[in-house]
Amino acid sequence: MQKKYVYLFSEGNATMRELLGGKGANLAEMTHIGLPVPQGFTVTTEACTQYYEDGRKINDDIQAQIMEYIDKMESITGKKFGDKNNPLLVSVRSGARASMPGMMDTILNLGLNEEVVEVMSEMSGNPRWAWDCYRRFIQMYSDVVMEVGKKYFEELIDKMKAEKGVTQDVDLTADDLKTLAGQFKAEYKSKIGQDFPSDPKEQLMGAVEAVFRSWDNPRANVYRRDNDIPYSWGTAVNVQMMAFGNMGDDCGTGVAFTRDPATGEPGLMGEFLTNAQGEDVVAGVRTPMPIAEMADKFPEAFKQFNEVCATLEDHYRDMQDMEFTVEHGKLFMLQTRNGKRTAKAALKIACDLVDEGMIDKKQAVAMIDPRNLDTLLHPQFDTKALKAATPMGKGLGASPGAACGRAVFTAEDADAWNARGEKVVLVRLETSPEDITGMKASQGILTVRGGMTSHAAVVARGMGTCCVSGCGDIIMDEANKKFTLGGKTFHEGDYISIDGSTGNIYDGIIPTVDAEIAGEFGRIMAWADEFRTLKVRTNADTPADAKKARELGAEGIGLCRTEHMFFEAERIAAFREMICADTVEEREAALAKILPYQQGDFEKLYEALEGNPVCIRFLDPPLHEFVPTEEADIAALAKAQGKTVEDIKNIISSLHEFNPMMGHRGCRLAVTYPEIAKMQTAAVIRAAINVKKAHPDWNIVPEIMIPLTGEVKEMKYVKDVVVATADAEIAAAGADLKYEVGTMMEIPRACLTADEIATEAEFFCFGTNDLTQMTFGFSRDDAGKFLTAYYDKKIYENDPFAKLDQNGVGKLMKMAVKLGKETRPNIHCGICGEHGGDPVSVEFCHNIGLDYVSCSPFRVPIARLAAAQAAIKASK
Ligand code: ADP
Ligand code: MG
Ligand code: MG
Repeated sequence: MQKKYVYLFSEGNATMRELLGGKGANLAEMTHIGLPVPQGFTVTTEACTQYYEDGRKINDDIQAQIMEYIDKMESITGKKFGDKNNPLLVSVRSGARASMPGMMDTILNLGLNEEVVEVMSEMSGNPRWAWDCYRRFIQMYSDVVMEVGKKYFEELIDKMKAEKGVTQDVDLTADDLKTLAGQFKAEYKSKIGQDFPSDPKEQLMGAVEAVFRSWDNPRANVYRRDNDIPYSWGTAVNVQMMAFGNMGDDCGTGVAFTRDPATGEPGLMGEFLTNAQGEDVVAGVRTPMPIAEMADKFPEAFKQFNEVCATLEDHYRDMQDMEFTVEHGKLFMLQTRNGKRTAKAALKIACDLVDEGMIDKKQAVAMIDPRNLDTLLHPQFDTKALKAATPMGKGLGASPGAACGRAVFTAEDADAWNARGEKVVLVRLETSPEDITGMKASQGILTVRGGMTSHAAVVARGMGTCCVSGCGDIIMDEANKKFTLGGKTFHEGDYISIDGSTGNIYDGIIPTVDAEIAGEFGRIMAWADEFRTLKVRTNADTPADAKKARELGAEGIGLCRTEHMFFEAERIAAFREMICADTVEEREAALAKILPYQQGDFEKLYEALEGNPVCIRFLDPPLHEFVPTEEADIAALAKAQGKTVEDIKNIISSLHEFNPMMGHRGCRLAVTYPEIAKMQTAAVIRAAINVKKAHPDWNIVPEIMIPLTGEVKEMKYVKDVVVATADAEIAAAGADLKYEVGTMMEIPRACLTADEIATEAEFFCFGTNDLTQMTFGFSRDDAGKFLTAYYDKKIYENDPFAKLDQNGVGKLMKMAVKLGKETRPNIHCGICGEHGGDPVSVEFCHNIGLDYVSCSPFRVPIARLAAAQAAIKASK
């Protein structure tokens, strides 16, 4: 049977998102609910993947189906493409499964040509409207289909406005627009070398292909990588009859949310422009009016729109983000989707919906994007400092959070300064999709133009970056990289602070404070904890980190890296003596100086954890990371050791390795210098005994983790040293203490022989940073140099060090868990690589049966939520 590549809106519904894309599925759903939707059809995402399979060609079958549906659409609407009496004009709109705002392109008013525009102009008695549609169409079509570039057209418009002495597009007359349309076509011809197409069907096929092609444009690729959207999904294309918001002052277009996307407050929130079309509202060219004013301008349509909002929220059980147009007072719905929102709003909306009886707790937990929480876990302005500061200006609080940094004026500069380790605030007249990478590199974004739904605002909210938009008081001089506000001129590099909640802008630096879990955040996290089975621990090396992580809900330490403890001034000297020692006795003497420090550190950790598990990893990095490089330090070390400077330098150079990542490190250190493991064991056990004495009710069971094991015999060798030392310590203290010895799983061979390793190891903890590195055979410090080429060529879609490679590294983990449990059924398993805080990776860990994930303190709440969502999903 022939595959169906095209669906009328009346043939689809909301469950067909994979096939029809989000926009198409929701247009179909709204059609079914009986809302006023201009009719049309959707070309499926499968047609898009087929287009790429066919070498970027729309094959005959798909073309024929599109033609057939044009006929159907013509009979449904009673209008005809290119008709002299009743011409059909359509929009061609992209729409992937997951919304990718602003990433791909839309063409409006398709179907126009010289003849049709004259007919329309005459019949409507509104030539301004007809020519406005035509010039917009030529502009969008050229930009999207032929990639001619917006800039040329905008320059022509600006020139025309200057000539006519007007500032707004709406002030241009029909004749002006007609002249512009002529100029646009000439521009097109000079760039493309062909006349602008006049056959509507040819225009349509060109537009559909352009949308397919836009799936692969660079900014869409970056967006997908940031948002876990697979390239293989493809985009659908929606062809929809136009509704006209630009026919005069009884027309308009707008966007609105059923609840505030920044705060979550209930109540309609949005913006509206009269006599406007399409992107005018979001482009930031004219400043739109608040949606409430629509009540005066279009009382009937506004009343109906409010009813539509209620219907949609009730139907989707979530906050909706809608696009609509009013044509001569009549309302048309053009889009609805579950609205993007800040983390704060997401939490409030989820709680409110539960309180309103719209959803249950499980649904509330499931509807929050864990990655979004990140913004709440980052510092906010210190309230006192903020109160004391006087804002020098105010814009719209478009995306909450606090940002403080040096002003930069272009996306490129934001990138460059960020690469140098500077914190920056990007200040622009308005942003555009080309600015995405620069926006990502910034702490915050400040724009002169644009409202709450401007590009800057929408993208910033999506990225969780603080944004203040539409500060019209700024006198901007982009060319000379400076602006003036509140009587003061700021140059590139000057510090400013912006508050994305209030919209306030401050001169200089305002200190920030850490965030906390309270209110709605606390409610959601408590619900998440009810549903999850995976434990969440933290990677913490200091009592301060451990304490922070506990506040954020960590249930233990999954990884304490002991080497960081050696770097402090008093200790590093003793450690260097240890490295340069000639005999075991000398080495032991140096270690004995370190022991009390380590023991003290561990005691503080046990105190901070209050009886929750603490997993301490023994010394891991190669010793040459600790040796001195400064002449003065080398001389001091020589003196302390009674050696010559020459001797010390020889020792240092003897430690040189060609490939330190694969060199003398991890448990190999303990095999060559067992006294290091002995000292660390003594420190762990003595600390545990002491803290237990002070807190007999705490269940302290030290977990000692041997790094970089690849062979069971080396594991056994080191474990024997640990056990002998630990048992002697416990016996000497007359204490009763249980402890465990396990290993980090970070060498592929350990995973392959996990059944053997488990004869010795009492737990496994997957160190997926090294495991990824060793499985792929490239280092994470060097991968940056070539990964971009791999992304461009679609060999990898994302960084395996950020997102767990489930097919390769994940397969090793899965196998190791299975083999380990065969040998030791009660072996406990966790993960402590970077991936422990990545929601998709957390879900994988849940599914392969790990007991816990361990991540950096600020990712703990993200992991808790992701773990709950994994459990909810798996139970379905
Ligand atoms: P995006 O995904 O970037 O929002 P859309 O496909 O939603 O792009 O189109 C952008 C804007 O174009 C819409 O918000 C709407 O205002 C306008 N538009 C799209 N299709 C139509 C149509 N059939 N009639 C009137 N306006 C339309
Ligand atoms: Mg668009
Ligand atoms: Mg849209």
